[in-house]
Amino acid sequence: MNTPTSKQAFVDFPSTLLEARSLIGGEWRTGAGDSRSIVSPYDGRELGVVRGVSLSQIDEAIQLAAGAFIEWRRTPQKERSAKLLTFRGLLVRDLEKLAHSAARECGKTVAEGRAEVLKGIEVLEFAAGLQDSDIGGAMDVSRGVRCEYVREPLGVTVGITPFNFPAMVPMWMIPIALSVGNAFVLKPSDKVPFTPCLLGELMLEAGLPKGIFSILHGGKDVVEALVDHRGVAAIGFVGSSPIARGVYVRASSTGKRALCLGGAKNHLILAPDADLKVAVEGIVASFTGCAGQRCMAGSVLVAVGESDHLVDQVVEAAARISLGRDVGALIDRAALTRLTQAIAKAEAEGAKVRLDGRAALPPKGHEGGAWLGPTILDHVTSTMECSCTELFGPVLSVVRVKTLEQAMALERASAYGNACAVFTSNGAVARYVAENATAGMIGINIGVPVPREPFSFGGTKDSKFGVGDITGVGGVEFWSQRKKVTSKWALQSDKNWMS
Ligand code: NAD
Repeated sequence: MNTPTSKQAFVDFPSTLLEARSLIGGEWRTGAGDSRSIVSPYDGRELGVVRGVSLSQIDEAIQLAAGAFIEWRRTPQKERSAKLLTFRGLLVRDLEKLAHSAARECGKTVAEGRAEVLKGIEVLEFAAGLQDSDIGGAMDVSRGVRCEYVREPLGVTVGITPFNFPAMVPMWMIPIALSVGNAFVLKPSDKVPFTPCLLGELMLEAGLPKGIFSILHGGKDVVEALVDHRGVAAIGFVGSSPIARGVYVRASSTGKRALCLGGAKNHLILAPDADLKVAVEGIVASFTGCAGQRCMAGSVLVAVGESDHLVDQVVEAAARISLGRDVGALIDRAALTRLTQAIAKAEAEGAKVRLDGRAALPPKGHEGGAWLGPTILDHVTSTMECSCTELFGPVLSVVRVKTLEQAMALERASAYGNACAVFTSNGAVARYVAENATAGMIGINIGVPVPREPFSFGGTKDSKFGVGDITGVGGVEFWSQRKKVTSKWALQSDKNWMS
């Protein structure tokens, strides 16, 4: 493999085929379950194979994780944080390797791969910082009686993650779950198994105790076995809404704590008074970044009133996007087929194709990949499929409305509730949208309003099943429980129900 450099636009490929193995009890093991060949979305070349685990391997991994948990939960928070900070150093050291790995198996650009690793590091820094900030609480609740709470881990916890961020979404969960004292089992997407394995290698190198972090590869069967397993205390899931809902219902029915993040259809509300440069840059980056395969991608542009001049500029700017240089490929040819069919359907339903990504040229030498250029469908109506279904590609549906109230009615009617952004120069308009949008994450002149730590990531409606959020302070609450201790060491000098 050539040495990757940060200047490369294109991704590095390994010279030999890779094999994704599972990490069980601190040892790399070949899965005894189904196997799947992994090809790169860039050009369809084979990258290697992932072998799923068998039911007995799942059981073994959970038992070893439960064993490791006994000592890890007793390990002082500062020592757990120290291990995480060693892991952080290794992530920084291997940033380029991780970025190229994420890019080549997921199709994104190396810059996007780098950005997702850096976001993961941000969550890790927050998690390691809990040693200084999460100091519990205590109060004298009556004379001689003191109440305090202590944070406790849950046990063996599981994270199930999607294809579109092979490093970042696992890193939303792993550092916080480990920092508060859990054992963690990652079930990565079976489409992108190699980057999570690199995380596992770095965990071992950082000296995390064997079994405290495990990786189990596989698909539906492995997810269901983990959700049903009696040794698992909590399930974090990120993926599409129908599967998120199913996992949530199944996990909850067994009494497990579950937080399952789903898909999205995010509205970008464009007011006629928006700053041209801010709005155009923000909208184009939102719908084209990661080839539109982000749960935070803006996919419906609600153009309010006289905003033709702004929409025209969005079309012009998006037409300048170059495949391979600015944006990457879709995850696979099946996604390409699904999207081209959705564009054709929108056209048949009366949408006007202002920018046709089907005609965009793949980067030279990468014709076998899953490439689709930015696509803009104008004069979309609220009944068309492209305005309400998650397409998960670089496709922007433009809906024209006369008033802000009509824009908000569209947002409210959406089944999803991940993000909503408004582009405006008017504070009152911004405030109105922030107050009235139903989504969980709101952007004001920001097209991808991902909260930074310690603020928590999570949406509403079909974008999230369960209470709480997956990162930040919400994540700390999800991956732990509070124990309340009430104590009396001296004779109580007043009389009440506690005496
Ligand atoms: P997906 O739902 O197909 O897969 C997610 C995980 O579930 C994977 O690990 C997969 O192996 C597993 N899985 C697949 N089919 C299953 C089944 N029938 N039963 C149980 N488990 C199953 O999602 P994806 O295509 O990998 O990822 C894209 C989706 O994830 C999009 O909908 C996107 O919006 C969503 N997403 C949401 C967020 C968020 O924070 N809300 C973040 C990233 C991605």
